[in-house]
Parts: sequence; structure tokens; C-alpha cells
Amino acid sequence: MNFITVSSFDNYIDANIILGKLQHEGITCFLRDEYTVTIDPILTNAIGGIKLMVPEADAQQAADLLALFDKERRKHMECPNCHSHNVEYISNPQKSGNWLSAVLTFLFGSYAMSIKKVYHCFTCGFEFDELPDAPSPAFSPN
Ligand SMILES: [Zn+2]
Repeated sequence: MNFITVSSFDNYIDANIILGKLQHEGITCFLRDEYTVTIDPILTNAIGGIKLMVPEADAQQAADLLALFDKERRKHMECPNCHSHNVEYISNPQKSGNWLSAVLTFLFGSYAMSIKKVYHCFTCGFEFDELPDAPSPAFSPN
């Protein structure tokens, strides 16, 4: 069977959540490079993250499900400034970036790990660290 990459992740938690959801939908899938990324996150960018692999025949269905999951996820992400749901959780190297951290990152690659992640609103450009009053999915009544 021929497997292809339908998505990639920079941490194993997100990767495993999506993996479990796809398996729940009856799609055969697995993660590639999960352990490499978990053991050595520095390599994540080099190898392209944790890759979600599905059989070529199921790729379209998997892509449709991923789009659906993403839509569901966005419902819970709202910009506190303009109330848009066009929000992503992204790495923001600029925020932690000053000349000192740039030099340290250059000298000691591991300092790259301190890159800050923020929620970024693509509608108004507002950035925030925490989702306002977002119920944790683990405690969601649904
Ligand atoms: Zn906004």
C-alpha cells in the first residue's frame, strides 16, 4: 500500500489528537518521524515535522476530515479584538527577537526553542497569548 503525507505537525500532542480522530473515522494512518521530533525538537524544521501518513486511496477523505477538524477547532478560537475566528496559533520569532537572542540562537542552536508561540488574528493582526474564556477541550461538556 502506498502512503502519502496529508499533514504535518510540530508537536506530538497535536499529531496524536488528529491521528486518533482519523483512526476513529476508520482511516488507516500513522505518524512518521514522531520520535525524532519528540526527542530532538531542533530537528523538527529540518525534517519537516511529524508527518501524518495515510493510504493514497484515502488521502482525499483524510484531507476532507482534516478540513472539518480545522473548522471545528476554529470555532473555539476567537480574536478578543475583532471577534474573528480567523485565528491561528503560530510561532512568533520576532517577538522574542532582539540582537542578544539572535546571537545566542546562532551560537547555541537550542535557544531557538525559546521562540514564542502566540495566537495571531489574520483579520485584524491582533496577537494574544491566551484564548479568552476558552473552555479547555478536556472539560468540554460535549
Ligand atoms: Zn482580530
